[in-house]
This record gives sequence, C-alpha cells and structure tokens, in this order.
Amino acid sequence: MPGGSLAGMSVWDFLIGQAPVVAALTRAIQGATSAGDQRLDKYAMTHAWLITGPPGSGRSVAARAFAAGLECAAGGCGQCKACATTLAGTHPDVTVVRTERLSIGVDEVRDLVRRSAMSPTIGSWQVIIIEDADRVTERGADALLKAIEEPAAKTIWVLCAPTADDVIMTVRSRCRAVNLVTPATAAIAALLVNEGIDQASADFAARVCQGHIGRARLHATNPEVATHRRAILDIPAKLVALGPCLELASWAVTTAKAEAEAATAQLDAEESQQLNFALGLSGTKGTPRGAAGQLKDLEEQQALRAKRFVRDRLDTVLLELTSYYRDVLVTQTGAADLTNTDYATPIAQIAAATTPEATLRCLDAIADCRQAIMTNVAPLLAFEALMVSLWG
Ligand SMILES: [Zn+2]
Repeated sequence: MPGGSLAGMSVWDFLIGQAPVVAALTRAIQGATSAGDQRLDKYAMTHAWLITGPPGSGRSVAARAFAAGLECAAGGCGQCKACATTLAGTHPDVTVVRTERLSIGVDEVRDLVRRSAMSPTIGSWQVIIIEDADRVTERGADALLKAIEEPAAKTIWVLCAPTADDVIMTVRSRCRAVNLVTPATAAIAALLVNEGIDQASADFAARVCQGHIGRARLHATNPEVATHRRAILDIPAKLVALGPCLELASWAVTTAKAEAEAATAQLDAEESQQLNFALGLSGTKGTPRGAAGQLKDLEEQQALRAKRFVRDRLDTVLLELTSYYRDVLVTQTGAADLTNTDYATPIAQIAAATTPEATLRCLDAIADCRQAIMTNVAPLLAFEALMVSLWG
C-alpha cells in the first residue's frame, strides 16, 4: 500500500474486493477487545492466522491492516499514530518479516519466537507477520510450532502464503485460514482512482493487469512498465520468419536478466558488506576459520535469488502473451470482451488469419515454456522453442 494513511480511509479500505476476509478479521479484533461484552464473539479471535491468496490479491496488505486494527484503539481507523506506524512498518510491537531470500531458516524463526514471548511495549498486542511463510524451512517450522501452540497471551502470529498447501502442514493446521480472492477489475480501478490516478488510466491498468493490484498500480504510475508490456504484446505480430523468432527470444531473456541484475545488485552488495563486517573481514587480519564457507553460502543464496528474479520476469512475459492469445481466441469465438483493448487491431488480424485450434496450440506452447523454465531448462532455449511454435 502506498505511503500509509490517506485522508478519510480506514486501514480496511486498502483491502479491496475482500469483504468476507475483512469481516472475519474485524470480528476477531472486536471479539479480542470485547472484555465482557456478551454480544461479541470472543471465539472469533485466535493466536495464529494464515492469510492466503493469489499474487497481487493483497496478502501483506491484509496482514498489516489486521495488525493496525489490533493496535489501533478504534480497530483500524487509518488516521491515528498506531495505524500510521503499523502501515509504515515502524510500530515497535509489529514485526514484519519479508524476505528476498529463498528460505526462512531456523535461526531467523528462533529470533521471532524469542520476540513473540515478549509483552507488547506501547500497543495492545505483539504482532508478528511472516509474509512468505511458504519459505519457512522444515526446521524453521519445528521451531515455530511450539510458539504457535503455546502463544504468549498478547501475541498474534500472521502468516501469509499463496495457498495453504504451500505451508508446512503441521504449521497450517494450527492456524485459522482466511482466503483472499482475485479482486474485481472495477474494485482495483476504484482503489487507483482513490490514490490519485485518473479514471481512464486506472480502468485500463486494472483491466490489463488481470486482478494483480501491485502490477496495476505500477502500470498506472511507471511509464517503463507500460512500455515493457507493449514491447511484449508487439511480439506476436513480428513472428513472421525464423530470424525475428530468435531475436525476440534473445530480447526477452536478455531484458529479464538485465532487470534481475538491476533488482539484485544493490541487495547483493549490502549483504556481502554486512557479512564481511560481521566476520571481521576488514582486510588486515587473515580470514577467520569458517568465514570462507559463510561467504560461499551467501554467494549461493544470491545466485539462486538472481535466478528466481529472472524466472519471475520471464513469467511476466509469458503472462502477457497468454492474455494476448486468450484475446485472439475470444475474438475467434465471437466474444467481444478483450483484456488488451489497445491491441484489438493486431489481435483481430491474427484471429482472422488463423483458427481457434491454432490459437489453443499457441496457449499450450506458452504453458510448455513456463513448465520448461520451472524445470530448469535454459531460458533462451525455452523461449526460442516458444517463439518458433507461436510463428508456426
Ligand atoms: Zn487507528
């Protein structure tokens, strides 16, 4: 969510198109603070929550809203200091774990467990949010279990993951699950308008980003994102010979690698510097025993992260191409509800020149490419095969 509080908005207003989840979480907050009020359901509250939902549906927004609702005297007014500091990530009793690493290990979890045993300082609750609970290792999960089973009286755990199946079973079975759905296009557009984006740009961004709030916001506010989308959607019309197929495959992979590099270089440098500092490697003393191993571990983690970034960027390309060929299919079957309305002309041309069967083969080829990249086929090979299939 951008910049914390906005005039007149409660923390729940950021969680759009998710009425059942808002109802469950606000009822829990009321129940927890009801102290003797018989009309409120004191069983609505529990110490461990699991918030699931597709990418971009607002898992971390929901977790922070819940935390703010617990710390705020008015249940999440969005205007007070407790709300503002929680949303900004600076409330002393709200810990947010968000990682770029591939896993959250046992040491990190033990730190959180220690923290969870402490009483809140200025707020009513000690809230610990783990944004990528699907990355908690098995040993980490073991360390987490006891804290969830026997929580301190004023501690709330909030775990987030794409689906419940992504979280280690022993942990998820001890959490109360709430599930976010893909928000409606109109709801995303309304949110963007509320954030100061003009209606037409908001409508368009919400439509082409297919339920992903973060991407829609980026699309409406960052011209580079919109340019990149157009570069991807220009691909199908250019696939007229083998040469362009290979060039476009190379472009997609090179661009993804450059974006990953830009996103990780700073993080890598900071982490290496921190580790060198922690190990006392100032350059004058020799290398302490074990330091080489730790440096190597870090380099491996960083290489894996870079790989994941490249994969995520390539996945964006495949998502855009999928939406394009879905539009072709929609046109061929006589429906009129396009996602990429700005590409109606080339989409109509491809639709007229080919058959629905051929379009289905294109969609299959995109799915195959995604599968190949997930199973570690070299991205360039996978994309070359894809471009040739789309041309064929
Ligand atoms: Zn408040």
